[in-house]
Amino acid sequence: MKISVTGRIPEEVVSLLRQGHEVEVSVEDRPMDRQRLLASIGDREGLLSMITDRLDQELLDRAPCLKMIANCAVGYDNIDLQAGSARGIPVSNTPGVLTEATADLAFALILATARRVVEGDRRTRTGQFKFFAPFLFLGTEVNGKTLGIVGLGRIGKAVARRARGFDMRVVYHDSRRIEASEEKALDVQYSDLKALLSEADFISLHVPLSPETRHLIGPQELRSMKSTAYLINTSRGPVVDEAALVEALREKRISGAGLDVYEHEPALAPGLTELENVVLLPHVGSATVETRTNMARLAAENLLAGLRGEKPPNCLNWDAITKPK
Ligand code: NAP
Repeated sequence: MKISVTGRIPEEVVSLLRQGHEVEVSVEDRPMDRQRLLASIGDREGLLSMITDRLDQELLDRAPCLKMIANCAVGYDNIDLQAGSARGIPVSNTPGVLTEATADLAFALILATARRVVEGDRRTRTGQFKFFAPFLFLGTEVNGKTLGIVGLGRIGKAVARRARGFDMRVVYHDSRRIEASEEKALDVQYSDLKALLSEADFISLHVPLSPETRHLIGPQELRSMKSTAYLINTSRGPVVDEAALVEALREKRISGAGLDVYEHEPALAPGLTELENVVLLPHVGSATVETRTNMARLAAENLLAGLRGEKPPNCLNWDAITKPK
């Protein structure tokens, strides 16, 4: 069968796909141009996609042969799942394999914002470190503080586990409260969002992007936060109203923010880069050699299963395409 891979993946995974299939891989380390994707999708049976590909009705209309979409990410807000299901196309993601790497990055942002790591590096490398002084570059303690986790799924729980090493109190908000025994094991307390926002020193977002979570953190929520608090976002950019965040940071209504994702990625909200109290990363939550290799392998396994007509291990819409309507 004919397969398109829209981003660079390790050679060993390409070899796996090539066993019995004709594979075209985008070898450039950048998002595949949409017009190129639309022009090439016509005779493809399998698609291994990246989060930068918008897989919508227009694309599906141009893909009459398409039998399987394997997204190389856990988030799948780039895909019109309903349109895929209506065409009977299984769609999969890569949950689990990126949990620890993304939790590490969320924690890196907590530490970097609290201790002004990036700002300190900037000042030092530009020759502004002239002397040690007791009140120079004071940050805030992470140890013993309250961490608010919004979305206690795989990554949220992995962040909670890390917080124990820093003796943090962890409160969480999620659409579902977990079992009391699991709350005890993780040492976390359930809270409604408003209370979490008003009591946490660090708020880390781990919800998927959906109509319900778009602008979950807007002007009102930012106003509920303590002036000493930090907002960390490694989920999806549109979960935060970025213009409102810039205002809150500029007016020092909150202490700082650590961002890996942006509302109109890769564009940044006007004013964001002028602020010292924000750490900005280029969407690298899962970007380790190990994790990206595992994601590509898992996406390939899903793709191959779907092309064989089997249920892909991480299928998102199996019921929708197999249950009689
Ligand atoms: P997950 O296990 O599905 O966890 C998400 C959690 O959020 C679930 O417990 C979910 O509850 C909850 N949730 C959903 N809607 C909610 C709402 N409206 N209010 C409160 N809680 C809500 O997913 P994960 O593997 O942890 O990944 C989370 C997200 O991180 C992904 O969707 C992706 O967008 C993002 N991510 C980013 C990077 C990066 O590079 N920065 C890397 C990996 C992942 P239910 O299960 O009840 O829906």
